[in-house]
Amino acid sequence: MSGVVLDLQRWSIHDGPGARTVVFLKGCPLQCQWCCNPESQCKAPEIAIFPQNCIGCGRCAATCPDQVARPSSEGGFTDRGLCSRCGKCVEACVSGAREWMGEEVAAGEVMKTVQRDMAFYRRSGGGVTFSGGEPLCQPDFLEILLKKCEALGLNTAIETCGHFNWRKCKDVIKRADLVYLDIKHMDPVRHRELTGVSNETILQNAINIAAEHVPLIIRIPVIPSLNDSVENITATVEFARRNLRGAKGIEFMSYHTLGKEKYAAIGLDYKLEHIRVLDDEEMNNLRKLVDCPRQPSLVNWRPVA
Ligand code: SF4
Ligand code: SF4
Repeated sequence: MSGVVLDLQRWSIHDGPGARTVVFLKGCPLQCQWCCNPESQCKAPEIAIFPQNCIGCGRCAATCPDQVARPSSEGGFTDRGLCSRCGKCVEACVSGAREWMGEEVAAGEVMKTVQRDMAFYRRSGGGVTFSGGEPLCQPDFLEILLKKCEALGLNTAIETCGHFNWRKCKDVIKRADLVYLDIKHMDPVRHRELTGVSNETILQNAINIAAEHVPLIIRIPVIPSLNDSVENITATVEFARRNLRGAKGIEFMSYHTLGKEKYAAIGLDYKLEHIRVLDDEEMNNLRKLVDCPRQPSLVNWRPVA
C-alpha cells in the first residue's frame, strides 16, 4: 500500500522522546492561519515555485501540454487552477525552480528510511513520529506504518490536529505510544475563523483519547493576539485539567515564521504579516499564569525551534 508523503525527516529531537524520524503525511482538514507547513494541507502532490532559482530558459512553458506553465521568475503559471499536474514542467526544469511537494510512496519505502536509524532509536529511546498535515487523513496508510513500526519494536507518536472521525480512527490512534493533540482555541466560533473548522470534534477526540488511556500531550500553538489571551489559555488548561486527567502534560508552542516563504511557492497568501513573535519572557509569563502547584507536570512549556 502507498500514501502521499510530504517529507521524511531524520534526527528530530522535538517530536517525542529520543532521536526520531518524522514522517510527514499530506492532507489536513484545517487551514490554520499560522500553519508552518502550508504545503501539507492539500492531500495531492503539488508543484512549488522557486523564482530565485529560475534562469528564464522557458523549458517549462515549451513542454506544458496545457499551456499554463511559465517561468517561475514570472509567477510559474498563467493560471494554476488549470494545471493538470502532469509534472512535465518539473522534469524539464533543471535549475530547481519548480519542485513537487509530496509524492506517492509505498509503505515499504517509508520503512526503509525509518530503519536506517534503528541503532540510534535504541540508544536514545527514540522512534518514529507521524505528522503532517494531519496523518489521520490517511488512516489506512498510517495504520500499516504503525503496524510495521510495532513489528520492529519501535516507539511511535502521532501529531494530530484532533479533527478526525473517532469511529474510523480509534483503532489507529490506539496503536500509538504517544499522541500530541493541538488545541488552538476554546471558543468554537473563533476556532472556525482561525482554522476553518469548529473545535467540538477536536475537544471530544481529546476526551476520547484520554479515556482510552493512550498517552496524550496537549499542545497549544501560542499565536500572539489570536489565541494568547489570559482567558483562552486559562480555559484551555482548565479543560485539560477537568477532562483529560490522564494526560501527560500541556506544551506551549511558540509562534514562528519559518513557514512564511512557502506560502508564495504554492500560490497562497500569508495572512499573519502583522504578527510578532513572543520572546522567552512572555512565553514564561504565560506558563506561570497557568502553573498548577497541585499538578506541576500538567504544564510544560517547550518553545518550537
Ligand atoms: S504540471 Fe503539467 S500542466 Fe501543470 S504547469 Fe507543469 S507541465 Fe503544465
Ligand atoms: S524551466 Fe525552470 S528555470 Fe527554466 S524558465 Fe521554467 S522555471 Fe525557470
